[in-house]
Amino acid sequence: MSEVTMDKIVSLCRRRGFIFQSSEIYGGLNGAYDYGPLGVQLKNNIRDIWWKEMTQLHDNIVGLDASILMHPKVWEASGHVSNFTDPMVDCKQCKSRFRADQIDLNAACPVCGTKGSFTAPRNFNLMFATHIGADIDAASTIYLRPETAQGIYVEFKNVVASSRVKVPFGIAQVGKSFRNEITTKNFIFRSCEFEQMEMQFFCKPGTDEKWFPYWREQRMKFYIDRIGIVPDHLRWHQHGPDELAFYAKDAYDIQFLFPMGWQELEGVHSRTDYDLTQHQKFSGKEMGYLDPETNERYIPYVVETSAGLTRNVLMALSDAYEEQTLADGDVRTVLHFHPNVAPVTVAVLPLVKKDGLAEYAEKLEHELREDFATDYDQGGAIGRRYRRQDEIGTPYCVTVDYDTLQDNTVTLRFRDSMEQVRVQVSELVSTIRKATKEYKRV
Ligand code: ATP
Repeated sequence: MSEVTMDKIVSLCRRRGFIFQSSEIYGGLNGAYDYGPLGVQLKNNIRDIWWKEMTQLHDNIVGLDASILMHPKVWEASGHVSNFTDPMVDCKQCKSRFRADQIDLNAACPVCGTKGSFTAPRNFNLMFATHIGADIDAASTIYLRPETAQGIYVEFKNVVASSRVKVPFGIAQVGKSFRNEITTKNFIFRSCEFEQMEMQFFCKPGTDEKWFPYWREQRMKFYIDRIGIVPDHLRWHQHGPDELAFYAKDAYDIQFLFPMGWQELEGVHSRTDYDLTQHQKFSGKEMGYLDPETNERYIPYVVETSAGLTRNVLMALSDAYEEQTLADGDVRTVLHFHPNVAPVTVAVLPLVKKDGLAEYAEKLEHELREDFATDYDQGGAIGRRYRRQDEIGTPYCVTVDYDTLQDNTVTLRFRDSMEQVRVQVSELVSTIRKATKEYKRV
């Protein structure tokens, strides 16, 4: 087993078209990334698995897609205008900028080594401000949302009034969020523009004590069973008194063992009725819920599950990456993606281009497109083509050879074990489906 470093992941992502630095031809823009052909597919797959898990497999969760731009009062009510700040310091010597809570202010500057060179910490609001309309003044200031959750809270009443949901129920949303992060390092781990997958679960006060552990269990299972993450690479971190927001009852983070160490992947938070109460106060609108059975009126409590989608992409890549030394001494780079997560599911490869093999393989690849994300590759030695697919995490390769023309069988090669079996073309789809269903990371 080789060591997984961030440099290796970044280099593979660039080389194979997963992720590029934004605006690279102009020297790049810090904290912004472009997802290439394989990266966007990987990201979409994780998003779709999450969306299905939330809105399809749970009968009491509905979806929402709120706008990124919202009324500025939303962010006053949520506390973001006054509190969404990080303490920032600069090194007076080299001008490098740091988050004061992430370094020792009495120590030397980690960049230039000068001692006692930091400015006093000052608070810096992480929201990106912009203006709506033609007038650029304080009255026209609006913000790019720093989280998707507030869009859910402000639509709570509309969703209740227009759909048949009854408390307890959840609203799920995936979308972009923006934070003017002071330090953006570790590739896509912390970026200024990123995507979140958030679900706010509204329940009767008191029942949050039941739903909070329920959602914690659900979320951990999701990563292991659906995304296929190695269980040892995940753990819980409970917020201590200094980390807990003043309104929160309890909060846990799911942490993943990233190449730079254990870091937050998702937060599962018990938020009480804080958010709806704040919006009631600031909007003057009733945000309560009338229980149709008991006629009780109350402001629901919220259990929130808040995950970074782009951070999930980094997790999937880090968890899957391996440089494997084979029996013959060869080294292959392989991404052990779960087949549901892999950007390409099946690659079809003719053993050679001539004698009708390429035509057969191309036709087969076209047919498989109905069922799977496919790739077709006819260039170079077959061993090299397998390696190329291993490196992008394709779980299944189908090879068309001379026997195929005689008996309509193909070789099906499994990425992780490199085992090869002979399969009738007519049984290919069902064989791959079955293997995907039974997939276990070895
Ligand atoms: P931190 O304290 O590390 O800045 P946070 O605790 O404020 O992060 P939350 O507001 O709880 O993070 O956001 C929920 C999730 O959104 C995080 O678990 C993470 O996966 C993702 N996320 C937050 N900020 C970023 C970012 N700048 N880039 C990428 N993903 C992020």
